[in-house]
Amino acid sequence: MIPPVDLTIQHEEIAEEVAAGWGEVLARTAFVGGPQVGAFEEAYASYSGVAHCVGVANGTDALELALRALGVGHGDECVLPANSFIATAEAVARAGATPVLVDCDPETFLIDTKAAVAAITERTKAILPVHLYGQIAPVEDLLDQGVPVVEDAAQSQGATRHGKVSGSLGTIAGTSFYPGKNLGAYGDAGAVTTDDASLATKVRLLSQHGSVTKYVHSALGFNSRLDTLQAVVLSAKLRRLSVWNAQRVAAAEYYETLLADVPGVVVPRVLPGNTHVWHLYVVRVQDRDRVHDSMRANGVGAAIHYPTPIHQTAPFATADSFPNAEKLAGEILSLPMFPGITRAQQERVAEVLVGALG
Ligand SMILES: *Cc1c(COP(=O)(O)O)cnc(C)c1O
Repeated sequence: MIPPVDLTIQHEEIAEEVAAGWGEVLARTAFVGGPQVGAFEEAYASYSGVAHCVGVANGTDALELALRALGVGHGDECVLPANSFIATAEAVARAGATPVLVDCDPETFLIDTKAAVAAITERTKAILPVHLYGQIAPVEDLLDQGVPVVEDAAQSQGATRHGKVSGSLGTIAGTSFYPGKNLGAYGDAGAVTTDDASLATKVRLLSQHGSVTKYVHSALGFNSRLDTLQAVVLSAKLRRLSVWNAQRVAAAEYYETLLADVPGVVVPRVLPGNTHVWHLYVVRVQDRDRVHDSMRANGVGAAIHYPTPIHQTAPFATADSFPNAEKLAGEILSLPMFPGITRAQQERVAEVLVGALG
């Protein structure tokens, strides 16, 4: 079986470093806070080209805290693409605001920025472009609209657009270190990045019970912290992220070579100006469910990200229609993609895909 993601290769590379780092944490039994968290936050801010990084418990919290720091709440609207992971919409709803969905570009799968700008009303308090599958949305179309841009950078650690790194293009960004993300923890974790010192301070305040001084609570907050043990893992992985992302780029190039002339397969398109980091390698095929089943039956763990657009999920169901998102949901197929995937594995994936097309 070729898995959709194989994390064992990454783990082997950092196992000793993690064991040593965790050994120090265990010896001191200091599991919350500590120098490891600060060190990772600093390293990730520097990697992302921003002044501030606040580690939090997961990516959904990162987005919600970013929105709350901006003052988003009841009666407000936030614009986001219909074809994201549901967490983007959850963060908006949990902040008390209304998600306003828009369609995506049919070629890049990224938010249709014209539709997003057209959806702005006097109640719009944020636009959330999602850097889906590992490439940055054309955020420049959304700046200067008088509305803060909150990047959903969960799938794009290390991606760049015109030289700027994911998480540094908007007003503020939320990212996820869920294990399967390009930078993945050994459990849940996330972070907020921004150049705005006052927003960073607000996020930190909200993430630790509305308090910067112990037992002085100046706002209603949360408990959403980055665990010390996760910070150790993330620092070890961050040192290798550029190499691992380069391996994903090489694997994507090889898929393109293998699949370029295969009738019935549309390979993904990279938006000019982008360095794509291939969180996922998503092709389009007709009769997708049958192709998917056949690949799985032949030992290839392809996957679907995501089978249901947000506006067709139970919590966000509307009668609105987003034709591009709906059409894509029926055609997309994520091929196995991870640092360390071998050429032989990729050749097998291509062979099984071609066989499945019939
Ligand atoms: C993973 C992901 C999130 C949420 O991250 P969690 O850490 O799982 O809460 C948000 N948005 C997108 C696009 C994601 O892929």
